[in-house]
Amino acid sequence: MKKIQCDVLVIGGGPAGGVSAVTAKMNYPHKEILVVREHEVQLVPCAIPYVFGETLGCSEKDVASCAMAEEMGIATLVGKVKNVDTQKKIAYLNEDEIHFDKLIFATGSTPFVHASLEHALDLEGVFTISKNKDFIDKLDAYAKDKEEIVVVGSGFIGVEVAVEFATKGKNVTVIGGSKHILENAFDGELGNVAEEHMEKVGVTYIGEDRVVEVIDKNGDNVVNAVKLKSGKIIDTQIVILATGYKPNTTLAQNAGVSLGHYQGIWVDEYMRTANHDIFAVGDCSARRDFITKEPSKVMLASTSSAEGRVAGSSLYGIHYLKGFSGTIAIFSTMIQEIAFSSAGVTQAQAKRAGIDVVVGSFSGVNRHPATIPDAQEQFVKLVAMRNGGQIIGGQIIGGKETGEMINLIGMIIESHFDIYKVMSMQVATQPKLTAAPTSYPVVMAAHIIAQKIHKGV
Ligand SMILES: Cc1cc2nc3c(=O)[nH]c(=O)nc-3n(C[C@H](O)[C@H](O)[C@H](O)COP(=O)(O)OP(=O)(O)OC[C@H]3O[C@@H](n4cnc5c(N)ncnc54)[C@H](O)[C@@H]3O)c2cc1C
Repeated sequence: MKKIQCDVLVIGGGPAGGVSAVTAKMNYPHKEILVVREHEVQLVPCAIPYVFGETLGCSEKDVASCAMAEEMGIATLVGKVKNVDTQKKIAYLNEDEIHFDKLIFATGSTPFVHASLEHALDLEGVFTISKNKDFIDKLDAYAKDKEEIVVVGSGFIGVEVAVEFATKGKNVTVIGGSKHILENAFDGELGNVAEEHMEKVGVTYIGEDRVVEVIDKNGDNVVNAVKLKSGKIIDTQIVILATGYKPNTTLAQNAGVSLGHYQGIWVDEYMRTANHDIFAVGDCSARRDFITKEPSKVMLASTSSAEGRVAGSSLYGIHYLKGFSGTIAIFSTMIQEIAFSSAGVTQAQAKRAGIDVVVGSFSGVNRHPATIPDAQEQFVKLVAMRNGGQIIGGQIIGGKETGEMINLIGMIIESHFDIYKVMSMQVATQPKLTAAPTSYPVVMAAHIIAQKIHKGV
């Protein structure tokens, strides 16, 4: 048995753990920081769908780099932490003891499969999208000579995986409970556009239905069909269950750390558990929505990294005031060359939460004039409070610029900007880079909301 000593132990080498460790080292350069992660190779989880198509083509191209951590002198060990004694401040890794002063749980999340479908995972040909390289390689290899794929789940991970397989010529069907795909992030009119683009790539969407049975017709333990609630039977060679993720909190729970909603580790604003030497960040922590303050199931690398920065800055006292309180669920996805981005609440979510909102949508072009060769259509929808005019949500369809434009909207939401501030916002524009200054879509959408509020619409 070896006795390993460190000041800060981070369990988990995903986005949350990595950012926590780097931030801790930047804030406390004289402290020994140790990261323990389960697998030798850590994939970049967000790019996993691109392993299956032409974009990356193999998991070796999706390996996360540890270069920055190494350069900073952050130590790494590979192995599964089996137990933590929070009183004695010891973590147990294989036969070794790791003695720490501060501990950050960054143990992430694992695929969630509804209890009624769990047994299907025993069949050959049934997969989840795990963040583990071996699993991803197994699915990739299995799919090589198969033609028919059913993806269960119409969130962005299901859609991205479906599109990538379709671009390889597979016959892919996505099955989701909602009318349109991506319903958690986009209102119907945008979800509809996303669906049309997905179908253009050759993916079929069956909405407002769900898989009730995964079938092995021949009794040989190999999947060959799914049965839907509507009674439809869809023949398939592969079933991918992209039905969400759950916090990976068994280690913390066994250590006596309290859990919050949805089984995430309970933390305060500074990502501290009730014991201020123990922190939790990323998908394993319990989250709230930034706008509604309701418990949130959103799991994103962006939110996880932001939490990692907060924890890494707050280990030995509060250094900075935390700038956000809850997730704004900010993310982007692409279907072929069209980007879809969202932040904050949708109009439908606002309605469900009882928030009186006014929306403004503007369609334009992302270059000016529209004759610039690579010009693409751009659509922005903003959701604002009727009382006060604060912008609490935004959705965009457009070209690659959408990925950064949503960050502008995210900043607007986090800063509680209202439509009037946005209407007079100065934006940098350039013919080959952006929309026209005269009709910048974020500003125009804010104007439309202002007019509606003025007219009492
Ligand atoms: C296919 C896919 C696409 C995605 N795309 C996007 C995207 O485009 N944008 C976005 O913002 N988010 C995206 N996400 C979500 C994002 O990947 C997650 O929110 C993010 O990975 C969470 O980071 P994390 O560090 O909290 O957890 P994880 O990435 O789950 O990492 C957990 C870490 O903990 C380690 N660990 C767990 N238990 C132990 C133990 N007992 N001992 C030692 N180590 C342990 C694991 O080995 C791992 O290193 C995507 C997710 C998937 C699966």
